[in-house]
Amino acid sequence: MLLLAFFILGLVVHVVFFISIFDIYFTSPLVHGMTPQHVPLPAPAKRLVLFVADGLKADTLFKTDDTKIDKAPFIRSIMEESGSWGVSHTRVPTESRPGHVALIAGFYEDVSAVAKGWKENPVEFDSVFNESRHTWCWGSPDILPMFAKGASGDHVYTHTYSAEMEDFASTDASKLDTWVFDEVKAFFSSAKANDTLLSQLREERNVFFLHLLGIDTNGHAHRPMSREYAENIEIVDAGVAEIVSVMEDFFENDKGTSYIFTSDHGMTNWGSHGAGHPSETLTPLVAWGAGIRTAERTTTQHFNDHYLQEWRLEYLRRIDVNQGVLPLGYLDNSGLFKAESMYANSIQIMEQFKVKMAQKKETTLSILFTPYQ
Ligand SMILES: [Zn+2]
Repeated sequence: MLLLAFFILGLVVHVVFFISIFDIYFTSPLVHGMTPQHVPLPAPAKRLVLFVADGLKADTLFKTDDTKIDKAPFIRSIMEESGSWGVSHTRVPTESRPGHVALIAGFYEDVSAVAKGWKENPVEFDSVFNESRHTWCWGSPDILPMFAKGASGDHVYTHTYSAEMEDFASTDASKLDTWVFDEVKAFFSSAKANDTLLSQLREERNVFFLHLLGIDTNGHAHRPMSREYAENIEIVDAGVAEIVSVMEDFFENDKGTSYIFTSDHGMTNWGSHGAGHPSETLTPLVAWGAGIRTAERTTTQHFNDHYLQEWRLEYLRRIDVNQGVLPLGYLDNSGLFKAESMYANSIQIMEQFKVKMAQKKETTLSILFTPYQ
C-alpha cells in the first residue's frame, strides 16, 4: 500500500514537472497592445539600408589571415574611417528566422516557436519594417515573406527569387547575392522614370533590406574555411560598395542614409549552425552614415575574449551589441538625444510591464493579486 502511494506520488511529481516545462517554456512571453514610444527629437537619418550577409561569422570577416587575402576591403575601410564596428551577440537557436526577428523586431523568440519549425511566425510581433513608411526587401523567399505578413497595411514590398533558382544556384551560391545587387540597381534606375515610386523614395523613414543568402549556402556546401566562402565575402563586399554608391548618387549625397552591415548567425567550422558555439553566436556589425559615429583610434579596450588580438583590431574601438541595451556607442548625437532615446526605451519596456500586469490581474483572484510597489 505504501509502495503504491509512493509510486503515485512519484508519478504526480513527474507529470507536474513535465507540464510545467510546457507552461514555462512553450508559452510566449510576448505581449501586445503597448503604445509605441517615440523620441521627440528629429531623427538623425532619413532612411536605413540594412545588409544581412546570412551565415557570415564575425571571425571570418574580421580576421586578416596569413594569406593576406583582403576579403572585404570596403567594409574594412568603413571600420577604419567612416563607421563604427563591433560584435553582435545572437542566441540559440542560431537559425535564420529567429536571427532576423532579433535584428528587425528587437527580441529573441521563445521556445514556443519550435512548434512551428522556426519557419513560421509563432506569435504576432511589431518590427522596424512595420513602423517604417515603406520597406523594400530583396532576397530569399524563405525569409522575406514573414516580415511582409507581419506588417499591418501594405507598405512592406518584397522582391524574391524563386525557390527553383535557390536550388539552381547551389553550384555557385554567390549568384543569390549578385541577383540581389542587380535587382536593387535596376530598381533605382527604373525609379527615376516612375513618379509614384520617386515620391515614395523621397519620403523619410524608409528602409531598404538586402538579404544575402550566398555566404550561408556556400558555408553549408563548402565550409567556412573554403575558398568559396571567402570569395563570396569578396563578392558581397564589392556589392555593398556598389549599392552605397548607387544610393548616394540617387539621393545626391544628402547625408540622410544610415547603413548597417551584419549577419543573422555565424557558422561552425564544419558548416553547420543552430547551436550556441561562439562561431555561431558571434556576428559582425558594421554601421556608418547618418547619425553614426566615425571610427575611433584607441589604446584601451577591455573585452574578456581574445578576438581583438586575433583580428589585429586592438587599435579600433569595438562596440558590442546586446539585446535590450541601446547601443549608444554607435550614435553620433547630442547627450540630449541619447538621454531622450534611453527614456523612450525605458517607457517602452514599462508599457510591456503594464500590459503584463493587466493580464495577470484579469486572470487572478483579486485577493491573491498584490501589485509590485
Ligand atoms: Zn541564416
